[in-house]
Amino acid sequence: MPDLDETHDPGRKSWVASANAADSDFPIQNLPFGVFSRDTGTPRVCVAIGDQVLDLTFLEELGILTPAGSDRVFHTGTLNPFMALGPEKWTAARRGIARLLDADTPLLRDDARLCEVALVSQADVRMHLPFTVAGYTDFYASREHATNVGSMFRAPDNALLPNWLHIPIGYNGRASTVVVSGTDIRRPLGQLKGPQDDAPHLGPSAKLDFELELGAVVGQPSAMGQPITTAQAEQMMFGYVLLNDWSARDIQVWEYQPLGPFGSKAFGTTISPWIVTRDALAPFRVPTPERVKQLLPYLDEATPGNIDLQLEVDLRPDGAEPVTIAQTNAKYLYYSAAQQLTHHALTGCAMQVGDLLGSGTISGPDPESRGSLLELSWNGRDPVRVGDRTRTFLQDGDSVILRGWCEGEYRIGFGTCEGTILPATRMPSDP
Ligand code: MN
Repeated sequence: MPDLDETHDPGRKSWVASANAADSDFPIQNLPFGVFSRDTGTPRVCVAIGDQVLDLTFLEELGILTPAGSDRVFHTGTLNPFMALGPEKWTAARRGIARLLDADTPLLRDDARLCEVALVSQADVRMHLPFTVAGYTDFYASREHATNVGSMFRAPDNALLPNWLHIPIGYNGRASTVVVSGTDIRRPLGQLKGPQDDAPHLGPSAKLDFELELGAVVGQPSAMGQPITTAQAEQMMFGYVLLNDWSARDIQVWEYQPLGPFGSKAFGTTISPWIVTRDALAPFRVPTPERVKQLLPYLDEATPGNIDLQLEVDLRPDGAEPVTIAQTNAKYLYYSAAQQLTHHALTGCAMQVGDLLGSGTISGPDPESRGSLLELSWNGRDPVRVGDRTRTFLQDGDSVILRGWCEGEYRIGFGTCEGTILPATRMPSDP
């Protein structure tokens, strides 16, 4: 766990006035990294501050912020070169940015000409995927979620398979279809076979779902053939994003045995545009829940691995107001991101800068804390009320909006992670 320093001082204010509002996701204590562009410009690296973005590419060009000394890391439109610098440089850059934005620092504050270029309203920018996703692995780390799904797909007495309480279960997903918030998602086609059907047929998924997850962004590599400790895994973690692992339940239930999900989760994964750093989250760390079975020692953690992060899901039917349909917390995860990463590298699997680990759907103990429609509607049995409509699974035109924030002496927000469902396309036919 990173040390607390002056960047966590709750009394610290910024000269960017909107950052000092109590309900801002992006106070000076947060400073999440992202990539933005304006008009037709090229993508640039930034941090969020209040309702503005601070252009780090510009400040590096001017020599005002130089995390890599004479080398440049903010010029490629992606955060990977900066992440490759490692945790000491991440922390040093955070301190430097906080100093620049501090209410008492005149350098930018009193230079209107500089500010006009360095600060841009978030309303006027387009956000991009903040990093090049090297690999995407999705875990299954919520005991409540795994129990709910196992109860539905198998039986309540066989809900958790025997390995679940010993291993952070995961599968290797697709990096190619990880997209930034705001990207539309096309309803997938797939092989479908109901329990009464003799044979499968081809068609659009009728059980399209979201999964509320926390994404961990790996900022440092590990060597092939070399396991890592949980302390090393913690140091390798650059930060976290909200993640929606869109899932087609009817495709999934027919394809998932024996090797796990394949196409049913590979057609789209949406992440929020802001990477909230491990440094910013340091005051909100909490231990994982009590162990049901003792873990093998390589998974023990010396410092609390979970985050007390409140999470919400809104569903907005086409043309209607959004309605909150689930509220949960990332502290319910049974395995932390560092435990997931440690287990991932145990066999000698090499980790890369820009790897993305999904936590798995985050469900809590209450019915309203379930992080997917599969669980909220209990596989379609109990329709979910959405304003004056109901849903069992997603319909075309529906938007799903994830939100997350830590709340203490100040608020560390993640912004939103949003996507809208487009109707299925037709199978292409040969001419
Ligand atoms: Mn998932």
